[in-house]
This record gives sequence, structure tokens and C-alpha cells, in this order.
Amino acid sequence: MTDYSQSGSLLLRGKVLTMEAKEEAEAVLIEGEKIAGVGRYEELKRRTKEETKIWDLRGRTILPGFIDSHTHLVGMGLEEMRPDFSRTHSLADALELAYERVKASPPGEVIIGVNWDESRWKEKRPPTKEELDKVAPQNPLIFRRICGHQAVANQQALALIGKGWKRVDRERGILLEDVCLNLDDIFPPSRDQFLNGLRAATARAQREGVTSVQDIAKPSHLWAYQRLRQDGELKIRASINLPFAQGELLSRLGLETGFGDQTLRLGGLKIFADGSIGAKTAALFSPYRGGRNKGLLLHSQRRLNEMVHRGEEGGHQFLIHAIGGRAIHQVLKAYKRAIAASNPLRHRIEHFELAREEEIEEAGRMGILLAMQPNFIGNWSQPGGMYEDHLPQWRNNNRFGLIKERGLKVALGSDCMPLSPLYGLRSLVNAPFAQQRVSLKDALRMYTIEPAYFSFEEGIKGSIREEKLADLVVLSQDILSRGLEGVEVELTICGGKLVYQR
Ligand SMILES: [Zn+2]
Repeated sequence: MTDYSQSGSLLLRGKVLTMEAKEEAEAVLIEGEKIAGVGRYEELKRRTKEETKIWDLRGRTILPGFIDSHTHLVGMGLEEMRPDFSRTHSLADALELAYERVKASPPGEVIIGVNWDESRWKEKRPPTKEELDKVAPQNPLIFRRICGHQAVANQQALALIGKGWKRVDRERGILLEDVCLNLDDIFPPSRDQFLNGLRAATARAQREGVTSVQDIAKPSHLWAYQRLRQDGELKIRASINLPFAQGELLSRLGLETGFGDQTLRLGGLKIFADGSIGAKTAALFSPYRGGRNKGLLLHSQRRLNEMVHRGEEGGHQFLIHAIGGRAIHQVLKAYKRAIAASNPLRHRIEHFELAREEEIEEAGRMGILLAMQPNFIGNWSQPGGMYEDHLPQWRNNNRFGLIKERGLKVALGSDCMPLSPLYGLRSLVNAPFAQQRVSLKDALRMYTIEPAYFSFEEGIKGSIREEKLADLVVLSQDILSRGLEGVEVELTICGGKLVYQR
């Protein structure tokens, strides 16, 4: 087989969907890391050189590489590397799996196994602290339940949990709620673990056809990206969005949104305005089903206004997480006070799941960008799903169709639930309600050229055009005529280099 992993000169023939005014083409010519030509196969063939490799993809779809506008790449990678108990049928099997990992780890390294569910185990009970002590006498070992809200720790692990954490039963090793939800802060991963996590997550993204991510990250994650980049190992493009708390330091250093280059760049600042629907903490206008709880706003209007104002002055784009209508309303108010009418810093709202018509219109007037997740439709919007269970007006969720009709800018992202553009695209075109659905062509734009705009990179990627970066994905069939059913990612090309082949 020919080795296409080095960038050189390559001519791809297939069904090319460009995301440009001229929507389709027969072939793409790649020279080095850029696209050198798009158009008719015979014409491009005349421009090839002796060393140009020609690859006939026989009617398969060629698209710009997917750009995932909302990921947690390093976190996902760390999670994927953990012993996973979801497929074990007994506690004994789970302990065995943990023991294998302990044997392969240096003494002292923290091991967190995840996703146990005692109802699937023969023994029908959680592990005991003593069982974990036996498996790992020299390593902190924690078993976290599948819900994420309960865990069991051994003696070594307990010794590392500070006295400030209250929900710790130090006799029996049982951890509850906040302790379980913050294990990564209590047991910070090592530098090697961060690097390996990012490697694993990048490989996963490439398998899914993703060539760029807009990552919601922490400084330790940015470090991992930089290190892989220095070692020539970073084969995905990343725009790094950091917590608001880092904004002041960034401003003092003179670093604005956009600092960096086409591989690794600084994105914006992330703020949470509310919580989630699953935990009933997203801020709604009317109560969740069966109670008076309306969720909660995490900041006062005044405080949020001030945060946006300060970030604006520092030249930072904002990514504000707002799920419930009340939170979305509050964020729009803060944006309205602070920003110019044309939204030059391209401020965004993340999720925007339960926007009312008023908020959709207001966001449209202000030119606010919406980073939304079609996966949530697939995960929770079916009849009998979580939205129906928790929300009185549950059908009005994730209204991509309505929002598109009003002409707002929307980029799709996975939120790593799961990281898979194809899953998101299928969820979106097959959504249960008309006001959620968009056409396949529109959905594809929202996973390519639109997110490129969100990170100020529409001039260099997101569509198949001469001079743009040769970031491409090849899907296993002609999706315009045969749809997305059964389709798979066949090839992923980033900067002219083959980074994944099925
Ligand atoms: Zn997220």
C-alpha cells in the first residue's frame, strides 16, 4: 500500500462537498499542507506532477475536516485511559481488572477505575475498602460508580484526601457527591498522564474525522498541547479556551484571543452562567416537573456584566455556558451592555438549549454566535427521555431548525458526549421535532465552515478552496444521495497528511 502519511502532492477523486458557493466538485488537488485546486478531475489531473499520487475514492464523500466547536479533549482522554468496569459482570472481575493496572503502574501512582454498577454484578454490592487495599497496597486506588456521585477509596487514597472534604467516610472508604465529582482536583494527573490523555483523545478525534477542536481547557491542558506540538506530535488543530479566572493574567501578559498560529491558538474565556438539566440546576423561567425548583443562576446580573466588560477590555472572546432560558436571558443582557452592535469579538453562548423565541430574536439582533450540541437531541430529546422527564415544555429544546430559519450563526460541537460528528449529524437530521431539524447540507456547514468562523479562522479552513489548509475527511459513501445511515469515516487528512485510515 502507498504511504500517504507524508504531505506531498495528492489528487483525490470523489464526491467533493466544498461548503463554498460552487457546492460540489469531482476532485481536490493537495500540494504540501494546502489545497492547490478544486474542480473537474481531468483538469486537475493535467496539473499533476510526476510524484503526485492519485487516489480514486470511487464516489465517496470528501468534506472539509470536521471542526468540533466544543470539546473537553484532555479530560476525555484521561477518562478513556482509566480502567473501565462498565462491561464487568462481577466485582471479582473488576478487582482483577484493577489489579492488572496496579501491576503495570509504579508505586504511588493514583489509579481511578470508573463506571461500576453493582446491579450488574453477581455480588450485588459495592467493593469494600479492604478489598481495594488488598489489590493495591502501594497505590492510591479509587472505584467510581457509573453515576459519578459515589466512590470507594483504599487507605492510600484516603490519606490524600484533605480534611476539608466532608463527605468522606474514612472508616469504610466511601466517598460521596462533591468529593467524587472533583477527583481530578484532589488527585491531579501527572504530566505523563496529561500527555497520554491528549494522545489518546487526539487519536479518537481523528478516527471520527475531526481535524480541529475548540477545546474548553485548563492551563495544564494547554501545557500538554504545547509539549506535544514541540515534539512534532500534535496532529490536530486546537483553539484553547481557558476559564475566566485566567483572563486577568492573560491580559497582563498582553495575550488576546487569536494569539498563536494555525496549529495551536488561544481562543476565548469560558464562564458558566448556570448548571445542567440533568442535575436540575439549569436556570429556567418555570419550575422543573414535580416541584418548585427553577434551577439557579451562578452570578448576579451585575457581576456577569462586569466580567464581560473586563474581558472585552482585554480583547477576549467569551464562551458563556447558558442552558436554561433564564440564564440565556441574563447572558444576552450582559452582552448587550458591553459589546458593539456587530459583535467584533464574536462572543458566543454555549449550549443555548432552552432559548425562548424572544432570546433567539435578541441573540440574532446582536449577532451572538451559538455553539450547540446536536448530540443532546440524540441523547435526551426522544419521547420518554430526560427532557420530557424533567421539563414541562420539553419539546422546545435545541431548536436548531427555528434558529437557522431566523438566520443566526450556529456551530455544532459534541461536548464529548460522545465525540462523534456523525452521531451529532444523524441526531440533528433525524430529530423528533421539525423545529429542531435542519437539512443535511446545513448541518454539514455547521460542522465545518461555521465553526471556523467562530474561531476567526474562516479564511484558512472550514471549506475546500484553493489556498486553504488541506484538512479533509472522507466518508464511506455518497451521503447526499444515500444519507448518513451506515456511513463511516474512511480517511482523515490534516495539513495534507493522512492521520487516520480505517
Ligand atoms: Zn462542555
